[in-house]
Formats: sequence, structure tokens, C-alpha cells
Amino acid sequence: MTSTLRQRGSCADVTESENEGGAIKTTPSLYYYHEIDEWQQDNHFIRSGYVKETSSFRECFNSLFYLHNESINIHTHLLPSLFVLLLIIYYVNYELPIYDNYLGVWEKLNFIQFGLAVTVCLLISSTYHCVKSHSHRISIVGNKFDYFGIVILITCSLNSIVLFCFYDEPFWKLAFIAVFFVLATTCTILTLDPRFATNTYRPLRSLMFILFGLSGVLPLIAAVKLYGYSAAVERSSAGWLALEGVSYISGAVLYAMRVPERFTHVEEDETSLLDKPLSGRFDIFGHSHQIFHVMVLVGAFCHWMSLLGCYDYLHKVILPNAV
Ligand SMILES: [Zn+2]
Repeated sequence: MTSTLRQRGSCADVTESENEGGAIKTTPSLYYYHEIDEWQQDNHFIRSGYVKETSSFRECFNSLFYLHNESINIHTHLLPSLFVLLLIIYYVNYELPIYDNYLGVWEKLNFIQFGLAVTVCLLISSTYHCVKSHSHRISIVGNKFDYFGIVILITCSLNSIVLFCFYDEPFWKLAFIAVFFVLATTCTILTLDPRFATNTYRPLRSLMFILFGLSGVLPLIAAVKLYGYSAAVERSSAGWLALEGVSYISGAVLYAMRVPERFTHVEEDETSLLDKPLSGRFDIFGHSHQIFHVMVLVGAFCHWMSLLGCYDYLHKVILPNAV
């Protein structure tokens, strides 16, 4: 026996089916926005496909295996987190060109710390999206960890570039690492503030992370001053860094503005969803947070390409010309 499907584009509200032994198998229920608890209500442009409070980690992890409105958020970060670090460790040990003027194992570790930061960030993010339906308390704690993961990613990304680019400028190298450390600490403290997780402060939170990311422009300005525009661009693989910035910022802005789901939103009772082909179209696939997740992956890839460029420039230009 199969009950009526209630929710377009998602799992059935309650789907019961008899298997060969006659036992009834139940697919967990999904809910509309107005049916979930207030603490779960965050983005009213996403109308359906919600997992209601489970109060059980087992049920949360079960949600990995059926489709709901957090599925893409979970898997876009869970799957890459399983292989990114291994891929990077393999690359630096077997594929990375080792020049005659190789400076030692710290160079490989610089790549690996970036890989580790990406992995930690993605793993925390996917875990958060998986367990956020557990309870209000777990959702709050998970959200803080999620943002802390972003702080780790930004900090390690910025430091990795500076370590290569300013190898021959110890003062600037240490100065920027200190600046990033202060900014990372500020972001972490603000992230831990409970007010920061509320809807009211969401744009401010996004803005703060954008500013932290944009602080990466400071070393570029210093490099232009020290070496001139063209050399600074080459030294830092600035093209890739610019693409990285565009990826992260566009993802964060779309998320803050709830685009594209706000464009298909119809301000009516959810029960009329079945008659409105556009409303709720992005509930399961394509809403802003999923785009943000993908843009984070694109940004991390651009950073990797930039880091490789910086490494090559260090060995081909900076070290041969060092007195
Ligand atoms: Zn997320």
C-alpha cells in the first residue's frame, strides 16, 4: 500500500510499502515550512522537503539515504571531503615538480595544510547539514562549528599564499600572518556569539566573512608596491586568486539574498503548492545554499591553482634571483 504523495519534488510525506514478507517499510516524513518548529524556520522561500526535529542522531544519519531539502547541501561537501586530502597528499608526493632549489618539506606541508583545511571545512559543513534537524541545541552548536570551519579555510588559504609569495620578505610574511590571525580570532569570537546565528545578523555575518576573505587583497597591494604590478600578478597567480574571490563572494551574496528561490516564491498557503508549478521549485535542487556550497568548491579549486602558480614562481624566479 502506498499513501498519497503530499510534497512535490521531495519524498512522500509518508510512504508505506509492503515488502515480500508483508512487513511495512516506512520512509521518513518530510514537512512544509509552516509545519516545522519555529527554530527550524530559516528560509521561508524554501517551502517543502523539511526533515522535522528528529531528537536522534541515528535518524539524522538515516537522512543521508533519502532525498530532502538538505540532501544536496550535505553531499556537495561530504563527497569531496572524502577524497580532497588524499588527492592532495598524492599530488605533492608524486606529481609536484621538485626543483633543484627545493627548500624542504615545509613546502609540501604548505599544500597539505590547505588540503587539511578544505577537508575539515567540508566535513564540518556536511555534518552540520546532516544533524541540524536533531534539535535546536545541536543546530546552534553545529552552526557555530560550520562557521568556524570557514574561518579555518580562509585562514589557511591566506597563509598558504603568503608563505610562498613573501618567502624572500620575512617582515611582510610575518606581518600578514599576524593580521590574518587577528581577523580569524575576531571572526571566531563573533561566530560564538549566540546573536550571530539569528536571521537579523545573517547579512552582517556574511559581510564579515567576505571582509575576512577580502583581506587577502592586502598582500597583493603590498606586492604591487614592492615589485610592480606585473611581477606582483605573476608572483601571486593573481588571476586565479581573483577567480577564487569571485566564486566565494558571489556564492555568499546569493546565499544572503536567497537567490534564486526568492524569484519563484508565491506568498500563499503551502497547500496550494501543487497548483503553482513555480513556487518551491528550488526546494530540493538549486536553492541558494546549494549554489554557495558549489561555489566554495570552485573557490577552493582556484586557490589550489594559485598555490601551484606561486610555488612555481618561487622556484623559477624568486629563488634564482635571490642574492
Ligand atoms: Zn552550508
